[in-house]
Amino acid sequence: MDTTLPSVQENPENKLPQKDDTKEQAEELWRRCLDILSKEVTANDYRIWLEPIRAERIEDGVNLILFLPHKDVYEYIEDHLVDPLRAALNQVFGVDTKIGYVFEAEIAQNSEEDIKKIINEQQKEQQLIIKRFDELYEKSQINPNYVFENFIEGSCNRLARSAGWAVAQQPGTNSKNPLVLYGGVGLGKTHLMQAVGNYIMENDSAKRVVYVSVDKFTAQFVYFMKNNDLETFKKYYQQVDLLLLDDIQFLAGKESTQEIFFHIFNHLQQSGRQIIMTSDCSPVNLKGMADRLLSRFKWGILADLQQPDLETRMAIIQKKLQEKDVVFPDDVIEYLTQNVDSNVREMEGAINSLIHYSLNGVTPSLSIAQQVIRNIVQSNTPRETTIDDVFKAVAEHFSTTVEELKGKSRKKEIVHARQLAMYIAKEHTRASLKIIGATLGGRDHSTVIHSIQAITDLVNAKNKDIKTDIDNIKRKF
Ligand code: ADP
Ligand code: MG
Repeated sequence: MDTTLPSVQENPENKLPQKDDTKEQAEELWRRCLDILSKEVTANDYRIWLEPIRAERIEDGVNLILFLPHKDVYEYIEDHLVDPLRAALNQVFGVDTKIGYVFEAEIAQNSEEDIKKIINEQQKEQQLIIKRFDELYEKSQINPNYVFENFIEGSCNRLARSAGWAVAQQPGTNSKNPLVLYGGVGLGKTHLMQAVGNYIMENDSAKRVVYVSVDKFTAQFVYFMKNNDLETFKKYYQQVDLLLLDDIQFLAGKESTQEIFFHIFNHLQQSGRQIIMTSDCSPVNLKGMADRLLSRFKWGILADLQQPDLETRMAIIQKKLQEKDVVFPDDVIEYLTQNVDSNVREMEGAINSLIHYSLNGVTPSLSIAQQVIRNIVQSNTPRETTIDDVFKAVAEHFSTTVEELKGKSRKKEIVHARQLAMYIAKEHTRASLKIIGATLGGRDHSTVIHSIQAITDLVNAKNKDIKTDIDNIKRKF
């Protein structure tokens, strides 16, 4: 693999040796670069990353080919040492020099020892990082109960399950990396993703499998950033074999978290390690994500999970009862199957409540089931409110349309409704101000802040109308 860096700055005084100059010349010039670099970078960086690099040859008079013992070296240099490297090359080589990297070809005999040493050093360092990290956060985040065996297959999840299964058999294959599982709440995304993790760990206990929600990932990122130690954070994630990142919709608008995830993602993908992600909607519809991340999400497989059909619901209920070792009468099972149909988490909730009712030895009857389910379906754990929900509710409340809210109208009522929409979106969704503004007709950050402040002033002034408006709107989502 050859990778070419952009050319260094022009310096006509210093010409590269011409086409047929020898390897020796390349080596000599590279030695001079190393000399300069040894004074510019830390001793560790120099010893671990730069010193092992060998000059291979010069091509066409302008391309300096360097031999790197490992792809990691390239990544590290790109991330941390590219500036001093360019400066040194500029001094020594000048002109339009381009650097090409070779990773595997032409390994000189005597460098193998060096390579082993480097890899050893890296491994030691990584062990330390893992230890530090695991001391900070609980070790395995994986739920051992989420396995393939108890994941019921139906037409609603067949594609996703088979993609998960294929990944479990052969993780890191290019065409299935990353695997993105998407679909609504409670449809089994987390279960399925962890099933792959459990399967891989079971088959090879040496594999490092890390499950993390985006919320937690972000919190860790912030922690390490505050402690000026992002390197540790990045290295920790760059050495996992299987990364399970749950709920990537919450990456929306978090630019720095996306940025670091991008580096981690690239590193894992390039070194053939598997990434699985879940999202509550198709990546195509994710807002507030860097394009370069989104385009990478599409490299692998996207698989959706849908609401379970009747048959699958029946099978899931039977499986759950069997796991819990309880028996419900047929009419109760049928009633459950017919009436709790939105998602599997809700079905589990209904089963658990019924089990709770029957703890004193009474088998739940149909009428108890009806009562319990009425409660559950009504108090139905609401799905997370989205900005769109808020905008819709506000538009409805003010008898206008979402388009009008997003539009340019300066009519007093519309301006007020728009401001209220931003205020409520900030209070009741997890969207950042940036996303709120972007979704509401591409308004900038300062407009959003100003709008929210205007409403906050009214609320603080105990304005009655505003309170009633807000209460009524909230009832709509
Ligand atoms: P999501 O991550 O999509 O919100 P989860 O994976 O957390 O959903 O699933 C919610 C609950 O439903 C979990 O307890 C899970 O075990 C169960 N569940 C979801 N789908 C299935 C399925 N196909 N078979 C068995 N259990 C399921
Ligand atoms: Mg989930």
